[in-house]
Amino acid sequence: MVRPRRVFAQHWLKSDKALNAIIQAANCIPSDRVLEIGPGTGILTRRLLPLVKSLVAVEIDRDLCTLLAKQLGKTENFLLLQGDFLTLDLTSHLAAFTNFQNPNKVVANIPYNITGPIIEKLLGTIANPNPEPFDSIVLLVQKEVAERLYAQPGSKTFGALTVRVQYLAECELICTVPASAFHPPPKVDSAVVRLHPRQLENPAVSPRQLENLVKLGFGAKRKMLRNNLQPILERDRLTHLLEQLEINPQARAEDLSVQQWVTLANELGVGSRQWGDEG
Ligand code: SAH
Repeated sequence: MVRPRRVFAQHWLKSDKALNAIIQAANCIPSDRVLEIGPGTGILTRRLLPLVKSLVAVEIDRDLCTLLAKQLGKTENFLLLQGDFLTLDLTSHLAAFTNFQNPNKVVANIPYNITGPIIEKLLGTIANPNPEPFDSIVLLVQKEVAERLYAQPGSKTFGALTVRVQYLAECELICTVPASAFHPPPKVDSAVVRLHPRQLENPAVSPRQLENLVKLGFGAKRKMLRNNLQPILERDRLTHLLEQLEINPQARAEDLSVQQWVTLANELGVGSRQWGDEG
């Protein structure tokens, strides 16, 4: 077995049960073009390859790339790119490889130290959504992050990340995965999540304003929303507005649904100062 390196957050998945859950959640069909981030020793890669049209994998570790190239280099529907997924320009790298262009699905057991940035690169942001959204994204992530991704309003795990991600994608928990499913076991438990990028029925009129509102609203934890939003709106006016929107004036940021955040941003945007463009 290849010795895992801590700098690259390497934890080899060894549980059949977890691998099967990921494969099943990805629901691959023969026309799928899959993107995998951090193939590692290729345990997931090998299972995906026979199911799909093509698979492009991005791996940062040169030694692992050498190994993967040796073992899978002759597999026609496999393309390996060595580099940092976060900075790599996938489109230009794929320009010469017709069969691998525009992957429609992501399936990966990712490095946990860059979970947030990976999700942002895959989905984009509220103000700049990925113009070519994936059909689905199946990821193995820390359980604690997973809980924030699929959180429902009113729960403690519902945060700014929840709103930013759920604005762009539906999120579901597939299953939890114990630390013992990896070598070496990470310090935390994990979970498989599936994201379905989609457009909200009633999107924000000004996505930039929504982004800023969410940032401000979740600014001070455990404070009432109306206190956190004081810099942009006087308390009494905000109380009135919340009542109008049938939101409890004493609500905290985590109590509002994504659609309520959008409505609030839209309402605040009407005739307000340029608060949305600050900062
Ligand atoms: N998918 C494999 C390995 C998971 S460990 C398995 O399930 O066993 C995470 C993998 O991501 C490692 O192979 C690590 O080298 C790779 N990695 C870490 N940072 C990366 C980055 N910025 N870009 C691409 N790959 C990265």
